[in-house]
Amino acid sequence: MKYKHLFGPVPSRRLGLSLGVDLVPYKTCTLNCVYCECGETTNLTTARIEYVPARSVIAELDDYLSTAPSLDYVTFSGSGEPTLNSALGSIADFIKNSYPRYRTCLLTNGTLFTDAAVRRAVSRIDMIVPSLDAAGEDAFKQINRPHKSISCAAVIDGLAALRSDYRGEIVLEIFIVPGINNQPAELALLKEATGRIKPDRIQIGTLDRPGTEDWVEAAGEKTMQKIACFLGEAELIGDFRPRRADTALHKAQSDQIIRTLQRRPCTIKDLQQALNLRPVEIQKQVNLLRKQGKIEAEKKSRGIFFRAK
Ligand code: SF4
Repeated sequence: MKYKHLFGPVPSRRLGLSLGVDLVPYKTCTLNCVYCECGETTNLTTARIEYVPARSVIAELDDYLSTAPSLDYVTFSGSGEPTLNSALGSIADFIKNSYPRYRTCLLTNGTLFTDAAVRRAVSRIDMIVPSLDAAGEDAFKQINRPHKSISCAAVIDGLAALRSDYRGEIVLEIFIVPGINNQPAELALLKEATGRIKPDRIQIGTLDRPGTEDWVEAAGEKTMQKIACFLGEAELIGDFRPRRADTALHKAQSDQIIRTLQRRPCTIKDLQQALNLRPVEIQKQVNLLRKQGKIEAEKKSRGIFFRAK
């Protein structure tokens, strides 16, 4: 069976060997974060609908998991915000009912937990990794550029409600954007918010690959350590920890893309068809290769073409 909604398994720093499940089309999200490695959000929305049909995701999961693969997690993540898919709960429950030996994880921006239906949908997922990059409205708007109906205060209330309803592990992730949320006043607000949310663990990261916006820079290691300490023993993720498996995977993808572009100029869609990689992975690698000056872009009638320099 050719899979449209599953990807990997991917060796991941945090989750071990993780099978990805992508529940929304590229790139559907409630936020348009300045650091997003997948590029600009093209469908900024809060509408919860069955963006990809549950029955086809379940058929793929059934086909794959029935071979009893060795996995550490089945992870809902991918081309945008997974909780936007209204069938998330039934898909997560299918895994727990039919393949209970597999642990499940949700990577989410946490913006939709204000909705009790979303909190119910995720109740049987083993681990939830929500992000919260700011606790003040201005910083939230600058970093996460939310859909107009979303406020930072509501997101924090939703995460606190999740904590009181949900029995699994919550690992709160904070992405540091120097000049915005590394400032003392913003960090004090973040500390107050994490005190309300009470995650099991906090992880902080900073830029380690090009994001959507060129002006976003990485915070230095000392700054990250100080912030981790201030927030109460938060763990550092990103460049400050070894990530050999991730690096090898990204290098292999990047080499594949360069080799293809040396033969002929391609759009993202052409690369997707030629290499059978997800658009989100291709976009990440293309951003990186452009930043490194290895490829260039040219606008033509069929779209933006990339070629090797
Ligand atoms: S980083 Fe996550 S939440 Fe932010 S725009 Fe990208 S997919 Fe959406």
